[in-house]
Amino acid sequence: MQKISSCVRELRFSVIREMSMRAAQYDDAITLGIGEPDMHTPQHICQAAYQDACAGHTHYAPSKGDPELLQALATSLQTRNNPGGVENLLITHGAMHGLAAAMRTLLEVGDEVLLPAPHFPDYVPHVRLAGGRPIDVPLDFDSGFVPRAKDIEPHITERTRILVLNSPNNPTGAVIPGDALDELAELAKARDLVVISDEVYDRILFDGEYQSIITRPGMAERTLVMNSFSKAYAMTGWRVGYVLGPTWIVEQMLKVVNYTLASVNTLGQRAALAALQGDVAPFQDMATEFAHRSAYVYERLIEMPGIRVHKPGGSFYLFPSVAALEADGERFANQLLEEEHVVVIPGFSFGAGAESCVRLACTVDMQRLEEAMDRLERFVHRLHGKQRGMLPEDG
Ligand code: PMP
Repeated sequence: MQKISSCVRELRFSVIREMSMRAAQYDDAITLGIGEPDMHTPQHICQAAYQDACAGHTHYAPSKGDPELLQALATSLQTRNNPGGVENLLITHGAMHGLAAAMRTLLEVGDEVLLPAPHFPDYVPHVRLAGGRPIDVPLDFDSGFVPRAKDIEPHITERTRILVLNSPNNPTGAVIPGDALDELAELAKARDLVVISDEVYDRILFDGEYQSIITRPGMAERTLVMNSFSKAYAMTGWRVGYVLGPTWIVEQMLKVVNYTLASVNTLGQRAALAALQGDVAPFQDMATEFAHRSAYVYERLIEMPGIRVHKPGGSFYLFPSVAALEADGERFANQLLEEEHVVVIPGFSFGAGAESCVRLACTVDMQRLEEAMDRLERFVHRLHGKQRGMLPEDG
């Protein structure tokens, strides 16, 4: 008899991938759907990985990670005020695997995980696959989608174990300000929660210094930072991430890494080491390019009738509300794809409360971004015109 577990059967395939596949039928499609840098990994990293392959770095690595990479990471994190050393680090197969391993390590069946929404869709399957219950905490458009302690607190029950934070945020681009981090840290301590702080966009920050909740008093004992080389170093395909956290969690998580992977692929780790040790200029240029593109898209969107949007503080996403034009972001996204061949991702896929928003990723070059904005503007004007036509005073 063939049988698939109900937990897996009930997961849905990624809406982001579905939309991108549908776009493939149009030759002139522009996709603002995919959340990955369009730049290739810089050459010096590829060269270093090649040389390391030739030099024999072709064996399993230790489950905890390549010792040189761990040491280089510890040094680089300390320069950014992060607590801890090698004993607090674990290399993972992207932040994705860090999330999966963390949930498996921390959750009993039925434990609850708070997900301020909109959120990265994949948190939900990670929690479910570990037997936990994902609980969306809907945030307000008007508050800029910034999670505050007062939003979180009413959702805490005796089963709540984890609060997930993500700053800069996918899909909103929001950055959690320092005073909100202070409040959230106090709440986590008072209610004995572990915070999973997803910081994969920390180096794509448009203003100021990055602030992590792990640096708040007492938080190093209960915060697991998820990070990776994917976004900041244009290394999505190498699949190297890491976790920074207290030893009471990291030492147990090591068992999950050991039994799920043996080790993260050795060459990917050597490439990550080269990224840490080499010239930082290409990564700074990438972050500057994302800031430039995001500012351009923001300026275009605020000029479009019926669109409301917040200026992103980091990442490469914008998350406008199209409610004044079309309450259903999915219908908006589908129509935009059919009529103008531009892919955006409907808000419902990012959790409760975001149904009339859509996500735009600035992951195409400026020329295509300009063309995409022209097409979007045309589409929005058409929708707006239709709507005005329906108003009685317009006859
Ligand atoms: N967290 C967030 C918020 C993301 O957007 C992504 C990738 N889209 C990940 C984690 C996973 O990244 P990776 O596994 O490539 O490190």
